[in-house]
Amino acid sequence: MFEVKKIEDTDLVKNPVIAQMSQYDHEQLLFCNDNATGLKAIIAVHNTILGPALGGTRMWTYANEMEALNDVLRLSRGMSYKNSISGLNLGGGKAVIIGDSRTMKSEALFRRFGKFVNSLAGKYITAEDVGISPSDMMWVNMETDHVVGLPGKSGDPSPVTARGTYMGMKACAKVQFGSDSLSGKKVAVQGVGHVGEYLVEFLAKEGADIYISDIHEPTLKRVSEKYGAKVVGLDEIYDIDMDIYAPCALGATINDDTLSRLNCSIIAGAANNQLKMEGVHGQAVMDKGIIYAPDYALNAGGVINCYAEVKGLTSNWANEKANDIYTTIHNIVLRSQSENVPTYQIANKMAEERISSIGKVKLPL
Ligand code: NAD
Repeated sequence: MFEVKKIEDTDLVKNPVIAQMSQYDHEQLLFCNDNATGLKAIIAVHNTILGPALGGTRMWTYANEMEALNDVLRLSRGMSYKNSISGLNLGGGKAVIIGDSRTMKSEALFRRFGKFVNSLAGKYITAEDVGISPSDMMWVNMETDHVVGLPGKSGDPSPVTARGTYMGMKACAKVQFGSDSLSGKKVAVQGVGHVGEYLVEFLAKEGADIYISDIHEPTLKRVSEKYGAKVVGLDEIYDIDMDIYAPCALGATINDDTLSRLNCSIIAGAANNQLKMEGVHGQAVMDKGIIYAPDYALNAGGVINCYAEVKGLTSNWANEKANDIYTTIHNIVLRSQSENVPTYQIANKMAEERISSIGKVKLPL
């Protein structure tokens, strides 16, 4: 689903913008330009059948406009699938600001961006993403109320993301091992940052045998000492004998190289875009008898936390909803096995089915 065809500059004439939008049925694009502040941004609304399109704003030094367009189309569509499979009444959207987040930020730029978000009158709700900080979002919020994840509101989504990841991991264990207990299971967590550390906490409470890796030595040492987790090397993590591999740092770690090395029965982690090439590696994982928990269904705790903020729901509600990721993943895995189709394809189908069926009772905004 995420492999939207890469479009080169030279293909511009062959690939006009609306043609690209229609490729995956995007509803609306808003191109934003403001010479006074240097703002150049694109807001993509993929689908609003389930509700307003929610997705973060990314600030990135794209090589060219086509790359930015490609990214915002791909990411906004991904948000439609994530929000749908999580049972949320939210559509999918995303925004990209083209520029260097270290040198180009200013109050004026973000307030101008906020005005553009506001012009969509709630059809798109924004949040933080790569390159954006809470203080940037505070500036956006000066011009629009359609912002979530602000300081003092729903707070850090990472504990909820870790909870959902942990519950989905247990659902995979139920199918693979016949019991959802992770006690004594050898679990390798790659990256013990915000989500990874909370995941380690859940696993430690359940008595799992935990292995961790991280590029940041002080974090690695602290988490290892606090939870009794064993440290493994950055590359060694792909070779150890383990029951569960939990990528919580980088994308694309399931690839030709690692697949020939990974010695595990389950892959369940919070990182985004774990399969380097969905079509190839999603199938290859299945062929190896590994259960892969589709990343966007497993790590939906973050967006669940945002949804709670949008709807004025409590953190208890968000935690309960994250617990439901157990059932979602269990259903995906069982259906994958009965239809003999990779889990990522089943997740996509389930997300599309919900949008399609709710579409019969609701019209787009
Ligand atoms: P983070 O930056 O807090 O943590 C990532 C950790 O990975 C850091 O400690 C970093 O040092 C480590 N790391 C980087 N490269 C590494 C490598 N090669 N090997 C091992 N460790 C490495 O990020 P986070 O918020 O914990 O998010 C982790 C992943 O989960 C990301 O892919 C993110 O997109 C995804 N995700 C996060 C949330 C959330 O709520 N925070 C929600 C959905 C998805």
